Amino acid sequence: MKGLKIIVLAKQVPDTRNVGKDAMKADGTVNRAALPAIFNPEDLNALEQALEIKDQIPGTTVTILTMGPSRASEIIREGLYRGADDGVLLTDRAFAGSDTLATSYAISQAIRKIGEYDMIVAGRQAIDGDTAQVGPQVAEKLGLPQITYAEKVVAESDGKIKVTRRLENGVEDVTCPLPVLVTVTSSAPDCRTRNAKLIMKYKHALSVSETQNTSEDYIQLCNDRPYLTIREFTVNDIDTDASQLGLTGSPTKVKNIESIVLQAKEAKKMTPSDDEIDNLMKELIASHVIG
Ligand SMILES: Cc1cc2nc3c(=O)[nH]c(=O)nc-3n(C[C@H](O)[C@H](O)[C@H](O)COP(=O)(O)OP(=O)(O)OC[C@H]3O[C@@H](n4cnc5c(N)ncnc54)[C@H](O)[C@@H]3O)c2cc1C
Repeated sequence: MKGLKIIVLAKQVPDTRNVGKDAMKADGTVNRAALPAIFNPEDLNALEQALEIKDQIPGTTVTILTMGPSRASEIIREGLYRGADDGVLLTDRAFAGSDTLATSYAISQAIRKIGEYDMIVAGRQAIDGDTAQVGPQVAEKLGLPQITYAEKVVAESDGKIKVTRRLENGVEDVTCPLPVLVTVTSSAPDCRTRNAKLIMKYKHALSVSETQNTSEDYIQLCNDRPYLTIREFTVNDIDTDASQLGLTGSPTKVKNIESIVLQAKEAKKMTPSDDEIDNLMKELIASHVIG
C-alpha cells in the first residue's frame, strides 16, 4: 500500500483545567496570559492515530496544521518531538475573533494550499470553545465524508480505512474510502511521549515569524537543515474571501464568558422517586447549574 499523506488539525488552547481566580478578565474574556497554553488534549489523541498509521504504512507522512497566533508554533514543535514530519502555522490578524465557521473556512483554504492529502484527522472537541464543530465543518467545506467519535483508525490495503467509533451505547465499526476526515475522542489511546532523538533534531525548529529576530548563524543553520523551518501561511498565502474571515466572517460572537464556581451552600436528602428527581432537575435548570 502506498504511504498516506495525513494532515492533523491541532489547536493551541488555554489550559482551562486549572482555572484560577485570574483566568477571566473583567470584560469576561479569557485571560490567556494567565493560563498556560497547551496542545488541545483530544488533538494529541488524533496525532497518535495518525502516527500509528505512519508506523503501519511506510512512506506515510504526518503534517500538523494549526491556526493561531505565532506562539502556536509551540504545538507544532510538540508534534515534531512525538513523530510528526512537518507542520504549517496558519497565522494572521485577519483570522482574529473567528468563530467556528470562519475558523473552518480558513483551515479548509489552508488545506487546499497544502494540496494533496489522503486523510484529515482532528480532535473531537477543543477544551476552550467546546463546540466540536470545526472538524465536521472542514469536512463539509472540502466535500469530504466525515467519521466522528473515532477511537481507532486502521488503514486497510484497498485504499479504505476502518474506524471504530465510540458511541453512547457501545462501539460501531465503519469503513470508508479515502480521502476522509476523522475526529478522534479522548477514549482513543493516549499520544506517545516525546522522543529524545526527535527533540534534539527539532528543538531549533522555528516558524517564519519566529526567525525574524534570529542571528545569521541561525539562518545559516536553517538553510543547511530545511526541516527546521516551520511553514507559515498568512492571509496572502491562501485563496480567501475576506468577508468569510475573522470577526467579519463570524455569525457567532462570544458575548460574555462566565466562570461559574459551584459552591455547595446546603445539603439536601432526597429519595430516588421520579417526582423528587423531576423537581431536582427543574431546580438545577432554574439555577443555571445545568442546561
Ligand atoms: C468560551 C468560548 C465559547 C465559544 N463559543 C463559540 C460558539 O458557540 N460558536 C462558535 O462558532 N464559536 C465559539 N467560540 C469560538 C471558537 O472557540 C473558535 O471559533 C475556535 O477557533 C473553534 O471552535 P472550538 O474551540 O469550539 O473548536 P472545536 O470545534 O471544538 O474543535 C474541534 C477540532 O477542530 C480542530 N480545530 C479547532 N480549532 C482549530 C485551530 N484554530 N487550528 C487547528 N485546528 C483546530 C481541532 O482538531 C479540534 O479538536 C467560542 C470560544 C470560546 C473561548
